[in-house]
Amino acid sequence: MNDSVREEYEQLVEDVRKYRFAYYNEDQPLVSDAEFDRLFHRLEEIERMHPQLVSQDSPTQEVGAVVVGGDLPTIEHAERMLSLDNVFSAEELRQWCAKTEASAGRPVRWLSELKIDGLAISLRYERGRLVSAATRGDGRMGEDIGVNARRLAGVPERLAGSGHPARVEIRGEVFIPVAAFEELNRFQEELRPRAVEEARKRWESRPAKTRGDFPEELERQRAMRRFPTFANPRNAASGGLRQQLEKKDGLEREAGEKRLASLDLYVHGVGAWPNPPVAAQSEVYDLLSEWGLPTSPYSRVFDAVDGVVGFVEAYGRDRHSVVHELDGIVVKVDELDLHEELGSTSRAPRWAIAYKYPPEEVHTKLLRIEVGV
Ligand code: NAD
Repeated sequence: MNDSVREEYEQLVEDVRKYRFAYYNEDQPLVSDAEFDRLFHRLEEIERMHPQLVSQDSPTQEVGAVVVGGDLPTIEHAERMLSLDNVFSAEELRQWCAKTEASAGRPVRWLSELKIDGLAISLRYERGRLVSAATRGDGRMGEDIGVNARRLAGVPERLAGSGHPARVEIRGEVFIPVAAFEELNRFQEELRPRAVEEARKRWESRPAKTRGDFPEELERQRAMRRFPTFANPRNAASGGLRQQLEKKDGLEREAGEKRLASLDLYVHGVGAWPNPPVAAQSEVYDLLSEWGLPTSPYSRVFDAVDGVVGFVEAYGRDRHSVVHELDGIVVKVDELDLHEELGSTSRAPRWAIAYKYPPEEVHTKLLRIEVGV
């Protein structure tokens, strides 16, 4: 390996770490998701060509970002929370399915789900009672978001029905539906003139001699920073779930309450539950639904890969018909015994894959070129 590849590699490791920290811990992405994915895949490519570079702390071996010194206490997951490997074309998806079926040694049924663009959450229930809730964090330790999670409509304090396991970690995605996101940004806008009015009242209460002119423009800018327009639902959801409402008051509290109220949840997995009494992931969802947990209405099971590719194409065309933002499709082996058999790498299960759609800006540009606009 020559020096320039090593240099490129080291720079990529540093950049990916920095971008992950900004994205996961600060909800302030420094680059687009597409740019992040491009850098990450270059990193994987270099490691494939030079396997001696792969160390345990390479970003390709890790999930998310380490939770360091945040305001929230941390919680250890009973079973690790993983990420997903990605494919970017129907061809790659077909290859992944063929390889997975070859490893399984038998035909597989494919559970196809929308990949919700939100943030992962784990809800721990013991004998049907909610005991804690955490973000994914680095997959081993997450942030304790129990106080806020308990206020989500989709998180029952007690599971419905009976026969609950002694312990189970229910995994899902917290998101802000597109309509609620638009409303949230409208609310942020409405708070700004109110913030300026509050500042004016404080100004008026000062002695006329000492107060000078009311700094209207300055107060407008301050209100803009206090109540910004959120760039996307994913980051607004992440900040909303991880906020500490009890430390806020006045308009900040109102904004925080609104943000929390706009959060929604779909559950899409279980952990730390060794022997579920069903044979397929889709049946796990039926069970979760019976327990009163919100499962996605968009999931489908297919016997053949053609069905999965059709599903991917349909939602690629029709992304805006869905109540939440999606950045791809998650394809899972439905049979639970195969999950056990196929296992996982340090970062992702081998029984699932995420098909990532191209970012919409690129999509629009390509379409424009095609139709000659
Ligand atoms: P990921 O988002 O590619 O996939 C894993 C996650 O998908 C799971 O943890 C789960 O929470 C979620 N998910 C959504 N719907 C699901 C479903 N139906 N079933 C199962 N899981 C589902 O991986 P990641 O590690 O969470 O994040 C990596 C991605 O985040 C990158 O590809 C990039 O898009 C983005 N990112 C962006 C930046 C940036 O700077 N812009 C930085 C870091 C990460």
